[in-house]
Amino acid sequence: MAYDLIIRNAQLRRKKGTVDIAVEKGVIAQIAKKITGRAGKTIDAKGNLVTESFVNTHLHLCKVYTTQMLDSKALEAYHGGDMGAAMTAIEQAARVKANYNEKWIIQNVRNALKRAAVYGNTHIRAFADVDSKAKLIGLKALLKARDEFKGIVDVQVVAFPQDGVVREPGTADLIKEAMDLGADVVGGIPWIEFTDADEWSHINQMMEIAKTYDADISMLVDDAGDAGLRTLEMLTVRTLEEGRIGRSLAHHARAMALYPMPYFMKLVALLKQAKMGVVSDPHTGPLHARVKELLAEGSLVCLGQDDIADAYYPFGQNHMLEVGFLNVHLLWMTTFPEMEQIYDMITVNAARCINLKNFAIKKGAPAHLVVLDAPSVYEALWYHKAPLHVVSHGKLIDKDAMRV
Ligand SMILES: [Zn+2]
Repeated sequence: MAYDLIIRNAQLRRKKGTVDIAVEKGVIAQIAKKITGRAGKTIDAKGNLVTESFVNTHLHLCKVYTTQMLDSKALEAYHGGDMGAAMTAIEQAARVKANYNEKWIIQNVRNALKRAAVYGNTHIRAFADVDSKAKLIGLKALLKARDEFKGIVDVQVVAFPQDGVVREPGTADLIKEAMDLGADVVGGIPWIEFTDADEWSHINQMMEIAKTYDADISMLVDDAGDAGLRTLEMLTVRTLEEGRIGRSLAHHARAMALYPMPYFMKLVALLKQAKMGVVSDPHTGPLHARVKELLAEGSLVCLGQDDIADAYYPFGQNHMLEVGFLNVHLLWMTTFPEMEQIYDMITVNAARCINLKNFAIKKGAPAHLVVLDAPSVYEALWYHKAPLHVVSHGKLIDKDAMRV
């Protein structure tokens, strides 16, 4: 038997002893103690951990590497005063879009995606601002990059009305145009509208577009230090009414940290009914969704990178082990079982959140793998080194080419 690729002496998670993994035509063909046969390429994992590759469910890809184009007014507003001025931060951050030009955006996007490849981050849900300032400039850059990186880093492009829908007239039409151009996911940020009625209108308008294009929804909800925000509940209710189970994803939901317990438990029930995941990014703001309590309730939760050097966060490199390491601390998930949960939240849970099918190390599944420079999840998080090898769609990524 001849395979495209064999990885020998691989340590799998929660398994004793090493195995060989054979890949053929993009798919895991066999996993066994010892695989005989030839392969186009053979890798010796030397007992290091081999897992599913990393999945980043939340990245503002049109704005990467723009921190230094602005002053730090947005950062001050977003991170200061218990996130009470998060809306001001969005207004401050919008200034970068006065300079939007596909020429520089596409270069930044390519740099971020190359890093993703090097760090084994093979799947990304990426937001492109679509509004009266950004128009479709960032979106077009992301669509172009999606095609360029096809088979290496899979990019799901979200048409995202960052500055609102009701308060930003014309945006709904631009979102439709973005979907016509080939965007994959309909975005939303209902909590920044000025009234409850406008929040509902925002959600309803985006829901109608999602239905028209049979697209998933990704909305940033309740991203401020305001216990009165309710747009996560509204999105779950609307999703249930439409019967679009598993088609909506909620991001941030930071206000959840301030909710009384009885209301939180109602939300948990609604999220489960709607099969809706929550993406949390505790490293990009001082408040965050109740990740540990959601996990304890059996809810679907994952972690996202959120930002790479933009108006909201000055660091980030599409390195999900780094995101995991940071959040071990921010969430205080320092026991070994908790570290396994953190690892799930940057791999398999994240994959479920963005509806990647059959994302697992098992026979017949698509081969998206990393061979880590560490024998265990514990050491992988501890040193958060780049993987030794990254396999995307059954093909070994040329990391040297990606580093150029
Ligand atoms: Zn975000």
